[in-house]
Amino acid sequence: MKFLTFERNGQPRLGVLADSKRVIDVGAAGGPADMLSLVKGGEAALAAAKRAVEGAKADASVPVEGLKFLAPFPHPTKNVFCVGRNYAAHVAEGARVRGQQVQVPEFPEFFSKATTAVNAHEGIVPLDPKVTTKFDYEVELGVVIGKAGKNISAAQAIDHVFGFTIVNDFTARDLQRRHGQWFKGKTLDGTCPIGPVVVAKAALPNFADLAITLRVNGDTRQNDRTSSMVHKVPQIIESLSAGLTLEPGDVIATGTPSGVGFAMEPPQFLKEGDVVEAEIEGIGILRNTIREV
Ligand code: MG
Repeated sequence: MKFLTFERNGQPRLGVLADSKRVIDVGAAGGPADMLSLVKGGEAALAAAKRAVEGAKADASVPVEGLKFLAPFPHPTKNVFCVGRNYAAHVAEGARVRGQQVQVPEFPEFFSKATTAVNAHEGIVPLDPKVTTKFDYEVELGVVIGKAGKNISAAQAIDHVFGFTIVNDFTARDLQRRHGQWFKGKTLDGTCPIGPVVVAKAALPNFADLAITLRVNGDTRQNDRTSSMVHKVPQIIESLSAGLTLEPGDVIATGTPSGVGFAMEPPQFLKEGDVVEAEIEGIGILRNTIREV
């Protein structure tokens, strides 16, 4: 099932995408009312959501057209975890631009994006030219944690996953470089769209080999498969959870393929009005528009 969070009567609601035209309000149909209750509730909550959707009456259904999408977890309590330099071709393009030797990281490189960066499908991504003039995109597979855990082994990792989504790790390249540590350039307001849906893991068994693409105004910039990840999802979870508790609703962005704007010749950065579509096979298209502020 494809789950989403949307706004209805000013409130965040859990929805299931019934087909391309209709969304079922799971809470109104008698199931869990929000995404966090669903992922925390494990198999029982998933079964309750399924029953609710199957028995949903017409008034529990709303059209997709005109729907206001919210981030899957609209008010996260924790930063979004991210992995940097996790596709070999992206590591290579970064090294080329900086005139460095290509060195694929031996261990996953982690950073995070602040909760104030979280944004939604169809959300406006603000671009302040006084803050950054090198604004870039990064399509990534997002892992949604369902079951809490610490010191999780790679073999057990998928037991802790609820499902998968798309993250666009918008990045201010000038700030990323200027401040040494990546955090500043990675976490401007609104630079972490997540969505449009979270696909429960049972519905996405081939998450380790999905087409992952990104388009700017219809022009394909990134095009790879999730099988190209250097550190795979189970290894990322094992490494991140060593001595660190992962909790339901945590999101891990797993790195971006090659084709980012700063490595193009000449470099191409995002500007007012650009429409950025991050797409992953089996999940959907996360679409955002850049607006100067
Ligand atoms: Mg990234």
